[in-house]
Amino acid sequence: MTALAKNYNRRKIAFKRGKGSFLYSTKGEKYLDFVQGIAVNSLGHANPYLIKHMKRQANKVWHVSNSFLIPEGEKLAKRLTQKTFADFVIFQNSGTEATEAAIKVARRYFYSIGKPQKNRILCVKNSFHGRTLAAIFASGSKKMTEGFGPKVDGFDHFEFGNHKSLKKAITNKTAAIMCETVMGESGIKVIPDWCLRELRRICNKKKILLILDEVQCGIGRSGKFLAYEYSGVKPDIVPIAKGIGGGFPIGAVLMSKKVGLSMKPGTHGSTFGGNPLAMSVGNAVLDQIFKKGFLSNVKKNSIYFHKELNKIKNKFPKIIKEVRGIGLLIGLQLFNDQTKFIEKLMAKKLLTIRAGENVIRILPPLTVKKNEIDLAIKIINEVCEKIE
Ligand SMILES: *Cc1c(COP(=O)(O)O)cnc(C)c1O
Repeated sequence: MTALAKNYNRRKIAFKRGKGSFLYSTKGEKYLDFVQGIAVNSLGHANPYLIKHMKRQANKVWHVSNSFLIPEGEKLAKRLTQKTFADFVIFQNSGTEATEAAIKVARRYFYSIGKPQKNRILCVKNSFHGRTLAAIFASGSKKMTEGFGPKVDGFDHFEFGNHKSLKKAITNKTAAIMCETVMGESGIKVIPDWCLRELRRICNKKKILLILDEVQCGIGRSGKFLAYEYSGVKPDIVPIAKGIGGGFPIGAVLMSKKVGLSMKPGTHGSTFGGNPLAMSVGNAVLDQIFKKGFLSNVKKNSIYFHKELNKIKNKFPKIIKEVRGIGLLIGLQLFNDQTKFIEKLMAKKLLTIRAGENVIRILPPLTVKKNEIDLAIKIINEVCEKIE
């Protein structure tokens, strides 16, 4: 019997090594990995460049306290602010810590301008912001919060896509609207650009903050460095994580100058957050993602992938309802429950993962090659043919 608690539904397979888009099981089988640790391994498995930089830093210094200067973190923060709306960064170790920090920053901002009563965060019902107590109650999902009361107060909710419900939910206690630029766990639902612009307009009018959770859709996955860039809006606070570490646990909250200045010494902290080893890996990830042509290649490959998936959809209109997503954050929505379909893909050595609304999530590394996309397409086609 396993000594690991049963909070995960694990598939009966383990891996001994990975290379790029592929994983090799302990039984010697080769899998095309289009999960990549849930959008974490942005540069695939065992990336030589990341290994080199991690080893180099490992030989120098792994960890020092944030009570000292950390040049590797200064560098990563500077690069993140140069490429985004942000002026300040706080490093964390995970996505949920980054969203928690985002909530703290929003509240602290209103506290610092003498409006501490503005402290409620308005979130999308059934969204996903992580698994800490605050984050599960922010998500407004019955499934995630059941049995974990008392309820963490301070969150209100509106229905995705329902602007009336949104406007009604804003009160004079609202500090911020928080949503995922692309809703990941709940079914790869892209917030349209015009909607993001409307959200920005509402926030400006009500003088509240816009928090865009880019933990899953950020760091190149959408084809832009951050997914909100397509809309042209400027958010106030953006939590990121998953892809920034390329497999090393890193989270961060990006913020504008206005809100960032409220974070005075002692207001927030993390023992591990932003340590030299993590920061070196983060810098190495950005070296690759900021390379000329990297993001346009992600876009090019993703357009091809979406086009090929839509061909399958048109060929099997009774099985596939919709091809969703943006860039290499792709959802294949079925008419029926997706569990068996995912198992069949796995039997043919393609790894994918579920999301809400009968969606199969397809998350190749950003370094995926066209022939690997073709292989996935072939397997998905075969599974559809068998079902029909
Ligand atoms: C994964 C995810 C989180 C939580 O990240 P963890 O690293 O698991 O804590 C938060 N928000 C979004 C949008 C996510 O996809």
